[in-house]
Amino acid sequence: MNNKYLTGISIVIIIGVLVFGFFMENPEEGASTVNDQVEEYQDTQMMLDTVNTIRIYNSNKKEAVDGAFDQVSQIDDLFNIYDEDSNVSQINRVAGEGPVQLEDHTFTILEKGIEYAELSGGAFDPSIGALIKLWGWGSENGPTVPDEEQVEATLPLVNYQNILIDRGAQTVEFNQSEMMIDLGAIAKGYAGELATDYLAEAGIETAFVNLGGNIVLLGEKPDGSSWRIGVQDPRSDRGELMGLVVADTDYYDNRLSISTSGDYERYFEEDGERYHHIISPFTGYSVDNGIASTTIVANDAVMADALSTGVFVLGLEAGLELAENVDDFEVIFVTDDRKVYLSSGLKNNFEILNDDFEIVEE
Ligand code: ADP
Ligand code: MG
Repeated sequence: MNNKYLTGISIVIIIGVLVFGFFMENPEEGASTVNDQVEEYQDTQMMLDTVNTIRIYNSNKKEAVDGAFDQVSQIDDLFNIYDEDSNVSQINRVAGEGPVQLEDHTFTILEKGIEYAELSGGAFDPSIGALIKLWGWGSENGPTVPDEEQVEATLPLVNYQNILIDRGAQTVEFNQSEMMIDLGAIAKGYAGELATDYLAEAGIETAFVNLGGNIVLLGEKPDGSSWRIGVQDPRSDRGELMGLVVADTDYYDNRLSISTSGDYERYFEEDGERYHHIISPFTGYSVDNGIASTTIVANDAVMADALSTGVFVLGLEAGLELAENVDDFEVIFVTDDRKVYLSSGLKNNFEILNDDFEIVEE
């Protein structure tokens, strides 16, 4: 084992720790010099119900990191469905009765949400709220398995086509009074995009923004090396990586987002069955299609976040087909039995780290 390899391993471990939020117990703030040329400054904060790290390279504009976190915090306040006073909670209370005026961010994310719902054929659906509430995800008492009749009765409330938005008036109205939106599957992507915009406007050339595993990379690493982003082993402890996305600079246009959805993020077991937080809008139950995680690589962080959930629901065949038909994103599927499937644009940009996993060549 040569030194270069060891350095590679330690980089992987560092990234793994950073990406998967081991700062939970030890929030860190401060600057460190990695080598003579590269200086890093980062801060970690809890927002959006998760651990978030923003790091800038070779810049002394530390206040820009605070400003970027303010952007994330703003989104948290607007979209938090567990806060009765949030903009989304207000919408959920009244949009079934008539049009509601929206904040700019809420309007934009809803428009994008509908766009990705269309693109994924309704697999990602921002009107999933009533089902999420029925299962009790995020509730005080925790989730439980609802009666089949209740699931059947709730399914008609989930359909993005019943979210009526008026672009001119910037309003939304629900076609059914009990409908609810839930932006949990895109909020982190949207906040990541805003935080990164803020950093770029502040003159930061290189940054790493990690909002609960939804990553946005800005610019090129000052030392000229590729960004290497770990993908969690879905069946191991947090921080155990099964592979790496290697983002060569020619791979992206100054910005790249990497977002993972997994059945291990939030789940519970009842009567020997495993139930997790990615819900099929078609069945009303946790997706059960042999997929353990999906990772999307895309320029746009909202797209990456929305579609990591969307292709998880679509499953292997339809998900890969979508990735081949749409130029703007690539996907990594990891299955229950540790097989890895890559869309064609990622074949040279993914490395397996754990030999229990095997890339299946199509
Ligand atoms: P995480 O929040 O763990 O990063 P995701 O981005 O996949 O994972 O988002 C999962 C969340 O999105 C769920 O907790 C729920 O609020 C919501 N959700 C679940 N299923 C869907 C779906 N089919 N379409 C849209 N949102 C969903
Ligand atoms: Mg998502």
